[in-house]
Order: sequence, then structure tokens, then C-alpha cells
Amino acid sequence: MQKPMRAFVVVCLSVSAMGGWWAGGIERAAASRLKAGVARVDLTPPLELNAPLGGYGERMNRPAEGVHDRIFAKALVLADGQKKFALVTVDIVGFPPTLKPALVGRLADGGWTKEQIMLLASHSHTSIEMNAINPANTFQVPQIGIYNPRVLDFVMERLVHVVQDAERQLVPVSVGTSTISIDGWSRNRRGGDLTDKELTITRVDTTQGKPLAAFVNFTAHPTFMSGEDMLFSGDWPGHLQRTLESLIGEGVTAMYYNGAEGDQAPIGRSDAGTSRWERAERYGRDLGIVAWTQWKQTKTLEDVAFAYHLHTVPLPERTWHPDFMKTGGAEYGLSEKLFEEMLPVMFPSQAESISLRLGDLLIVGIPGEMAASLGLKVKSESGRISGARHPVIGGLADAWISYILPAEEYRRGGYESSVSFYGEKLGDAIVTGVIAGVGELKR
Ligand SMILES: [Zn+2]
Repeated sequence: MQKPMRAFVVVCLSVSAMGGWWAGGIERAAASRLKAGVARVDLTPPLELNAPLGGYGERMNRPAEGVHDRIFAKALVLADGQKKFALVTVDIVGFPPTLKPALVGRLADGGWTKEQIMLLASHSHTSIEMNAINPANTFQVPQIGIYNPRVLDFVMERLVHVVQDAERQLVPVSVGTSTISIDGWSRNRRGGDLTDKELTITRVDTTQGKPLAAFVNFTAHPTFMSGEDMLFSGDWPGHLQRTLESLIGEGVTAMYYNGAEGDQAPIGRSDAGTSRWERAERYGRDLGIVAWTQWKQTKTLEDVAFAYHLHTVPLPERTWHPDFMKTGGAEYGLSEKLFEEMLPVMFPSQAESISLRLGDLLIVGIPGEMAASLGLKVKSESGRISGARHPVIGGLADAWISYILPAEEYRRGGYESSVSFYGEKLGDAIVTGVIAGVGELKR
């Protein structure tokens, strides 16, 4: 980031020229320094709340039967004295469009607005069903999950507190990001070989050098577990975060967020056995070691860019794919009549996308499951526009509106098209909209 660097150098030169003013100059520079605070909360609902697991219609809203490994919400609050921003990563399948407005409402007293909060889901298919925490879901369809107000209260309380807790911990920080390309970890589940191989890690340390947060972006579905598996788990991202926390130590908080994972599936380690739980653990642990190796090589700086922008993206008309009743509709137990009623109630007519610049990192929020080809396009274009060296997709950000595919892929059909609810123009609309948003980021 060029501009703040130059500004900082100018301040140093001018105060050194003024001799005795040196100490005061340093204090002034320190006052506007970037601070961050981090917090986590256990988001595993007590079993007596009967929270259903999300991601597979065949579960028929059955509640989780136990806990394999706990799921978490984690918050990193950034503040520079003028503005603040909360990144919240959650081990969950996605967020219903109703969730963030309600959370912002609960945090409004603390000066929080929707521009300042980005929710990022890991997309774990062994965590809370998003329609169980969606009050707009009045449809009583077990395949899509049934609204459970007690689970929503549980989740909402914890999300409010994790942001407030993180904000109470603010300390001066240094930040750095790096990216590596790794082969053999993901495949395109719609065929062909297009994958996003990048693993991007962001290191947030205190200015004393203590690791505070490690942010990991990698693009793949957490789908080692199937619809038969009825225990709460973070799937491989849960194991990745635990592994990274153990290897880095010092109480660091590892935060995972997905990318344009719409067509990206994980490739299990070849010698990981046949147990789905074991395969998930092995993948997450091995990827955690890769992330740790990269983390160690990541350099941090104290004087970094910090900016964010929320952009409203108009969406094409809501509709469903001709294949819908064969694939998604069958899985989710929906008739055309019911779906006609459901579309305008559960799917918004416009979406919002936040871009966050933090040093060399640029997170572009995507409100759903974007195909990797579109994700790569957004990454390269937004890197070019912003000058950020590490553009990433924040997949499933803030709200899940559906799968987001290129027009030709939508027309080709298949599962992902059938769970895409804005027709063939959705991919273009989102790509154009989010790139326009990046263009409006302050520099
Ligand atoms: Zn998915």
C-alpha cells in the first residue's frame, strides 16, 4: 500500500527535523495506528434445543444426535481510531438473509452498521441448518429445515457477544498476508479441471510480536460427512483451525473462511482410510500444516491500508431452473406451487457485497456459492483495480442467496443449477456488481 507509507515517512521526516518534537510525533503516529481484538465463542447448540444439521435435504430436519467436535464463531475487530470493522467467521453451512440485519440491529447501540460487519461461513455440512435460524422460513418443509426460534436465539446471543468481546480486546497490531498455490487438494465436482488452488493466509500479530489471529482462505466444500452423519462437527475446516492453533500456540485464534466453492470439492488424502470422520480430520490437519508452514514465512507490517465498502448488487428476477423439480426440488421436497410462494419470501431482490482491504489482503464478499471460474475472475480483476497483492473471495458472505454460476454452466444444468434461483444472468450480475464495489473502495 503506497499512500499511507508515504504519509508516514513524511511525518517522520518532519518531526525529526523539529528535534525536540520527535517524541510527540511518535505518539501522534501511534494514536492512529491499527488495532485489533479477537474473541471466540462455542456455537455448538445444547442437544435439547433439537437443532437440525444443514446441507443435506435427506436429513429431514432431524436434530443432531451428538457432538463430534465443537463448532465456533470467532470475531476479529479492527479499528484505527476513525473506523472499525468486524470479521466474523462461523463454522456453519451459510447465513439466511434475515440473520445479519438482526445482528446489526442488536449491535447498533455499540455504533455498528451493516457496512462494518462481514460474516463468513465455512460451509460445514455438519453444523446448524441455516433455515432453522430463518424466521422468514414459515414453510414447514423438513427437507429445507424447519425454523426453530430457540436455536436462533442461541446463535444470535453468541454472535452479539463474540463481536462485543473482540472489541474489548483492542491492541496495536501488525498485519501480513501471503498466498501459495497447492496442487491435489481440490477438484471440480461439475467435471473439467478448473480449480482455485490458492491458499491465502493473513497473520495478525500484536506489535510486541505475539500472534493474535491467523486467517485462512481456501476453496473447497466441507463435505466429507454425508447426510447420514448426525453429529456436530466443523468438518475439515474445524480440524484445520485446531491444528493451526496448536502449531502456532500462544493462544492464537485461527479463523477459516471459504472461497468460490460452488463447484469445488476436497480431495481426501489417499491413505486416510474409509471413515468419513477420519478423512475429514486428516484433510484438515494436513492442510493446517501447510497453512502453518506458510504462516511462518508471512511478514507483517504495522502501517497498512484499512478500508471497507458495502456495495448493493441488483439481482435478476427470481426463478428456477428447468431441472429444478428433478434434482434440487426432489431433494428438498418442493412442488412448483410451494416454490412460487417461497421464492419471494426467502430470496432477496438485491444482494450486498462488502470489500475489505487490510494491507495486501482484499476480501471480496460473495453472498452465496460461486463457481470457481467466476471467483478467479473476480480475484484477478479486483486485484488489478485495487492494487492489492492478495485478493480473495469471502464465499457465503453475510447471506446465502443461492449457487452463482456462469451462464453456460447454468444452462448445462445439474445440481448446482437447480439450486441457483436467479436464472442464467446471476453470475454476470454478481461479478459486475462486486467488481464495481471494489472500484469504490477508498484508497
Ligand atoms: Zn454447497
